[in-house]
Amino acid sequence: MRRKLAAGNWKMNGLSAELDQIDALTASHATPSVDLLLCPPATLVAAAAARVGSHPMMIGGQDCHMEDSGAYTGDVSAPMLADAGAGAVILGHSERRDAHEESDEMVRAKAEAAHRAGLIAVVCLGESLDQREAGQTLDIIGAQLAASVPDAATSDTLVIAYEPIWAIGTGKVPTLEQIAEVHDFIRARLEDRFGTEQASAIRLLYGGSVKPDNASDIFAVSNVDGALVGGASLKAADFSPIIKALE
Ligand code: PEP
Repeated sequence: MRRKLAAGNWKMNGLSAELDQIDALTASHATPSVDLLLCPPATLVAAAAARVGSHPMMIGGQDCHMEDSGAYTGDVSAPMLADAGAGAVILGHSERRDAHEESDEMVRAKAEAAHRAGLIAVVCLGESLDQREAGQTLDIIGAQLAASVPDAATSDTLVIAYEPIWAIGTGKVPTLEQIAEVHDFIRARLEDRFGTEQASAIRLLYGGSVKPDNASDIFAVSNVDGALVGGASLKAADFSPIIKALE
């Protein structure tokens, strides 16, 4: 049985004062029946992990370098995130694939680095609007999945997030049928690659304009095991009802 997962991505938002949101979340969900993951900017990972304390909410990074250390000014490695208290890292977010020209091969190498450091890799996949309108969605998702996910991944070390690029931060959401089609397709491809038992335990998140008012409908879709939430994870008042919809 897959345990549901609500994951928040603060992107490049958040100063120390925003750590109060973590207190609000852990207070509202003292004994959560779903897994919680919050990914603040790298500068807040250690402080966020300290704030979480013994609460089961996991703190994660938003990216890591593919090397463990070295002359890479400005980058953050997977061992550094783990050392700061992270348990997971988002990889291959479309904003990084786009603005930082990250290829599937780079995402895969980063996922391997995450696994070496003992981090769960939350690997993001998604099509652009042009690709969807050209009927290429499943081809794009299949190719990204094949090339971005390490062969050694398991249900303990991998979470997949389906995030249509055109739905991120736009308020536009695919239809429930479109979400189901892609999630069912990802599950089938994972079964082909990892076998039914392993694939059936890998969690698939939907991401893209998840809000308190659409979360319940999205969570009822087959093969949706939770959400990766951007904007609505910044305030506990918005993220909390999404978590409740999953519980
Ligand atoms: C995201 O950044 O992964 C995301 C899904 O953003 P939003 O929820 O704001 O669309």
